[in-house]
Amino acid sequence: MIIILLGPPGAGKGTQAENLQRNHGLVNLSTGDMLRAAVASGSEIGRKAKAVMERGDLVPDEVAVAIVAERLAAGPGTAKGLILDGFPRTVGQAEALDRVLAEKHRKLDAVIEMQVVDEALVARISGRFSCAKCGAAYHDTFNRPKVEGKCDVCGGGEFTRRADDSAETVKARLTVYHRETAPLLPYYRARGLLRTVDGMAEIGQVAKEIDAVLASLGRS
Ligand code: ADP
Ligand code: ADP
Ligand code: ZN
Repeated sequence: MIIILLGPPGAGKGTQAENLQRNHGLVNLSTGDMLRAAVASGSEIGRKAKAVMERGDLVPDEVAVAIVAERLAAGPGTAKGLILDGFPRTVGQAEALDRVLAEKHRKLDAVIEMQVVDEALVARISGRFSCAKCGAAYHDTFNRPKVEGKCDVCGGGEFTRRADDSAETVKARLTVYHRETAPLLPYYRARGLLRTVDGMAEIGQVAKEIDAVLASLGRS
């Protein structure tokens, strides 16, 4: 089973991908996380991606496609099921994904669109932080750790904020989303793969809606 989570920055893709990974044993493949790891490691890809990410632009399609294809070829556990979080982000990437999957005789089961209005996204992104150890996502207002200062998932006590989560960069990222990524909605709708959930609902409710989509695909 291969599911794409599609939505603007701050829609809740990472939060829901984490849930799916925990509750359904699907492997979460986040191109944003992989790129941030590349930046942190100072690799060739990371050095090139750093400035692009900080200004809220997209890295070139070839780079995004290469990291996903590599992970699909080598990744442990990807045979069971996969969630793609943050990929594809352009029609070019979607076409490349189609080719990669065809080569591996695998198919896309569904594209889940998480609908959130732009006005809500700035608040979501400016309050976002995550566990430095396991990456679990939190929010200053909407999703605080159950015990103050302690990660619910791993118990870690250190948290980080992303360099690109500033109010200025968010605007650039939203513009890029509408221009480059939103065209994927008609692309997948035309192929009967698009399912839409209300991303404005609270986190648990969104998770239920996504579970219902998975159940309708014959897997709950
Ligand atoms: P994305 O991966 O789509 O950029 P995240 O999952 O990182 O989005 O969520 C962005 C921020 O909003 C995080 O701080 C997260 O805790 C919070 N968040 C996620 N889903 C919801 C929701 N349904 N309602 C309120 N806040 C949410
Ligand atoms: P968000 O959670 O806000 O949706 P991500 O963590 O998915 O953001 O991505 C962070 C940044 O990494 C993007 O703004 C972009 O610069 C880069 N990036 C991530 N995925 C892709 C992709 N598929 N294609 C191009 N750039 C990407
Ligand atoms: Zn943690």
